[in-house]
Amino acid sequence: MSLHSRSLTRPVYALADTADRVGATASLLCAIHCAALPFVLALLPAIGLGFLASHGFERGFIACASVLAIVMVVAGYRRHRAARVFALLVPGLLMLWIGGFAFDLAHATFSHSLLVVAGGICVSLAHVLNLRLARTHGPDCDCVTPA
Ligand SMILES: [Zn+2]
Repeated sequence: MSLHSRSLTRPVYALADTADRVGATASLLCAIHCAALPFVLALLPAIGLGFLASHGFERGFIACASVLAIVMVVAGYRRHRAARVFALLVPGLLMLWIGGFAFDLAHATFSHSLLVVAGGICVSLAHVLNLRLARTHGPDCDCVTPA
């Protein structure tokens, strides 16, 4: 393996940067959605946004946000070997999944909202930390190259 074989090409680096920013925004939107939902639940159908309150929409969103977060954080770890990103990702995903799949919004609103909000914030911060690592180290990072 050559010294530069792990260096990202500029387009791949830019794509990873964008994916982390999309993931951070999506996770934060997920948290905001769940924090606001109990207050706007009755209004959504009246303004044609009833789908935002459906289990299917929320669970699909959590699944997509989880896949993106896992792919980006694992890719970041393979480049930088910074395990602290997992300290945000793993509890974040656990809270998102337990909150989204074990606690029903209609019957356990508080537990559902608390877990999904906290989980969404943690996953969003995992993306931000991943992004900061990539920007600090740059596209020519050689963290995994033996000294
Ligand atoms: Zn690095």
